[in-house]
Amino acid sequence: MLSPLRRKLGRVYADGAYDSKASHQLIAHKGATACISPRKRAGLWKKGDPIHEAALVMRKEGLAHWKKMSRSHRRSLVETAMCRFKQLMAGKISLRTYSASMAAIEDPGLVLAGEIGIMALSQSRGDLMKYIGAHVSAAGGVENTIARAEAIGANAFALFTKNQRQWQAAPLSEASIRAFKLACEKAGFRPEQILPHDSYLINLGHPDPDGLAKSRDAFLDEIKRCEQLGLCYLNFHPGSHLKQIPEAASLTLVSESINWALERSQGVTAVIENTAGQGTNLGWSFEHLATLIDGVEDKHRVGVCFDTCHAFAAGYDLRTPESCAQVFADFDRIVGFQYLKGMHINGAKCTFGSRVDRHHSLQQGNLGEAVFHHIMNDDRFDGIPLILETIDETIWGDEIRWLRSLAKA
Ligand SMILES: [Zn+2]
Ligand SMILES: [Zn+2]
Repeated sequence: MLSPLRRKLGRVYADGAYDSKASHQLIAHKGATACISPRKRAGLWKKGDPIHEAALVMRKEGLAHWKKMSRSHRRSLVETAMCRFKQLMAGKISLRTYSASMAAIEDPGLVLAGEIGIMALSQSRGDLMKYIGAHVSAAGGVENTIARAEAIGANAFALFTKNQRQWQAAPLSEASIRAFKLACEKAGFRPEQILPHDSYLINLGHPDPDGLAKSRDAFLDEIKRCEQLGLCYLNFHPGSHLKQIPEAASLTLVSESINWALERSQGVTAVIENTAGQGTNLGWSFEHLATLIDGVEDKHRVGVCFDTCHAFAAGYDLRTPESCAQVFADFDRIVGFQYLKGMHINGAKCTFGSRVDRHHSLQQGNLGEAVFHHIMNDDRFDGIPLILETIDETIWGDEIRWLRSLAKA
């Protein structure tokens, strides 16, 4: 009984074709798996994944089917399936046995199994759909970041792949690259859960040709390091006009710098961060971000990282549920959520609209908590790294747990 099922599941996996019965079984299988291992959970169910889409259809169909059954029929199926599910959760039966017993139940039962899978998934939704972590230290080598992320219960993380305050750095060693990849694989971190950040010295909108060339070379080196580590993003601040050229000219330079670097690399998406707008920094307004993206030729390899503290400092009010909804609607209209590749989840020590970049812990400072409630309950923030850059790293674990607790099942 199991092997035709396995074959069917394989087909769903392989081509994403929706097959009602196979999908029900798949959901039961995936839902169960999701409960067993938090690490596996982290890698499951990405938005746009055909499995995810199939599950949504399945759920709708399943509910319609379920409503047609008699009460006693439903009850007996619930009891049977719940019993098996509890046994599975308690480790008393294997996933294989569980799958076989679900497959033995007729179609309505499979619908139910699917529903249970969905239940399990929605209960752990915060864990499952949201990748939450922090910008952890790479001291001693990039391969050490993974253990630091795991120690705080993260299923995402950010890192510097070289010293962020120096221009030059030794190339990554083969041993370091291998150890990094192996540790990621063991802990279940996939590239889309990792958001590397470039050096603070780089200015891709530099008005001076020498300064610009130096920045471009350093930026490309950062991209190459990400390539070597098998990563898919590089997060950076766009740059500054330094009062030497008009803002628009500097924005054009930034886009040209991105194009220049993308042409010389592959597989890494340039992720522009919104800034607080301190000094002559570009990229504090949604219009700046849209202009930058507009100037990039390969739209598949450009994205945005939204920093909550920077947005607040730049004059985007995130203090109430209503204002959050408005800001994100504006973001969608001007920039577009399809470009959102990551978030920096920060409280603000600076005041609203101050154009000063001062982060704080999540539950302290002037930003308030509304924006974090919003993010945790809006699926447009699913499947992207949500990275803490808060000031007290001793409470990162608590902050991650607190964020997860905000997700309503
Ligand atoms: Zn940054
Ligand atoms: Zn940031």
